[in-house]
Amino acid sequence: MLAEHKCKVLSIKNYIDNGKTIYKVIKLEKPEGFNYEAGQFAMLAHPELKNKEAPENPLWRPFSMASSPLQDFLEFCILIKPTGGLTQFLEEHLKESDCLLVKGPFGTYRLDEAFNKVVFIATGSGITPFMSMLRTLFLKGTDKKLQLFYGFRNANQFLYREELEGYAKQHSNFEFYCAASDDPEWPGFKGYVNPLLSEHAMKGSDVHYYICGSPVARESITKHLLTLGVSEENIHIERWV
Ligand SMILES: Cc1cc2nc3c(=O)[nH]c(=O)nc-3n(C[C@H](O)[C@H](O)[C@H](O)COP(=O)(O)OP(=O)(O)OC[C@H]3O[C@@H](n4cnc5c(N)ncnc54)[C@H](O)[C@@H]3O)c2cc1C
Repeated sequence: MLAEHKCKVLSIKNYIDNGKTIYKVIKLEKPEGFNYEAGQFAMLAHPELKNKEAPENPLWRPFSMASSPLQDFLEFCILIKPTGGLTQFLEEHLKESDCLLVKGPFGTYRLDEAFNKVVFIATGSGITPFMSMLRTLFLKGTDKKLQLFYGFRNANQFLYREELEGYAKQHSNFEFYCAASDDPEWPGFKGYVNPLLSEHAMKGSDVHYYICGSPVARESITKHLLTLGVSEENIHIERWV
């Protein structure tokens, strides 16, 4: 059985829109020997929130690592759901220096080393596994041709903006396209990522497409890629629900 670690919260960054926390980026101390691959996830829990159906256990929920395995902390980017579960509890109670429980790593979603042309497509907090992959690639150094298409609602919900825009400036092999679906003030592309994919995404049998986002976005993007002639084997989807 995988060990259960108690990890100190190093920092919390809230993304606030319309007076409400939409996302929390939580940095935790990385436990000794916690090895994982970019794209994997961990189970998180708060020591004080028990599972009502099995009160001897905490309420565990899965979250992908946003940090790179090469970094000496763990980072999670969490959508706050007002459904009375763990994420709402974190929003209401979590403070720096508190501890969270971490179990893992789990999952088989990862970037195949052999792929040299990769298109990442994310919506909302679906950017999380790709942050881990991009951070790892750029920390190691890479010649792969990379593109990221990122859809978010508005500028307040644009996760990791500075870091991603920085990568696009620093790395000529990384192209970054973003789309705001609900922001009249947004100076860039307005709408969903699909038209951007038609126009700018790399095409060819050696290009691989990694998708993570809400079920609706995932389905629409996958259908769109198929209409662009992408073969199903080249589409790699992370299904959170
Ligand atoms: C592999 C994987 C990776 C993921 N990665 C991410 C990620 O990186 N970022 C992200 O934002 N999301 C991610 N998700 C989605 C994330 O796991 C869900 O959004 C998360 O489960 C929400 O948890 P929640 O408890 O707040 O809400 P919910 O899962 O909606 O749970 C709320 C429900 O839990 C029940 N409940 C509430 N309190 C208790 C209690 N004390 N005991 C028992 N039941 C209770 C109630 O029925 C309530 O309606 C991932 C999912 C998967 C499968």
